[in-house]
Amino acid sequence: MNLIFLGPPGAGKGTLAGKVVELLQIPQISTGNIFRAAMASGSELGNKVKAIVESGKLVDDDTTIALVKERLTQADVAKGYILDGFPRTIPQAEALEKWTIEVGNPISHVINFDISDDKVLQRLGGRLVCKKCGYNWHKTFNPPSKAGVCDKCGGEVYTRPDDSEESIKKRLEVYRNQTEPLIGFYRGKGLLVDIDANPEVDQMFVNFKEALNLL
Ligand code: AMP
Repeated sequence: MNLIFLGPPGAGKGTLAGKVVELLQIPQISTGNIFRAAMASGSELGNKVKAIVESGKLVDDDTTIALVKERLTQADVAKGYILDGFPRTIPQAEALEKWTIEVGNPISHVINFDISDDKVLQRLGGRLVCKKCGYNWHKTFNPPSKAGVCDKCGGEVYTRPDDSEESIKKRLEVYRNQTEPLIGFYRGKGLLVDIDANPEVDQMFVNFKEALNLL
């Protein structure tokens, strides 16, 4: 199964992906995680995208498309994959469609995370992320038992720089203007599957399995 997770920041795409990876034994490909890892390592790519990512704007299409295309040639995607945070613009979606059809392995479903603005703000406002394993904690709803330390792996838990109030506003605006049109794009192609992303992750996982007849 080749899946796209589509939804605003804070919709729970990364959190649900963690569960789906285990269920379907396919990798999660998160462009946000790839950019953050590049930034942390101080690579050329990391330095190029740092200011853009931290401000909440989108990295340019050419850079992002090339990165995903390269990732999708690796052996571990043979059984399928979850694209989390890609595509985010129509040109990205068109490029992805073109080359997945060319290689005879097209996208199977696009999961549309349907969520209210209030819920998004609530989730992003208190989000904490583990620097090492990427697990998502929350200051109020799911705090680590020891402040600043990940219960899963002992890594450092921090607030992403782009989870500042100003950056959250920018990311939601970018989502509405550039990414939301993908809902119509994929609905028109009969690939869209809507799931209610307002509940917490366990219920979202049930909603996902129901929607794809995996129960
Ligand atoms: P995320 O972790 O998915 O919220 O992504 C964090 C940031 O990485 C975004 O705000 C963008 O700056 C950048 N980014 C991630 N995915 C993409 C993409 N598909 N296109 C452009 N920029 C992206």
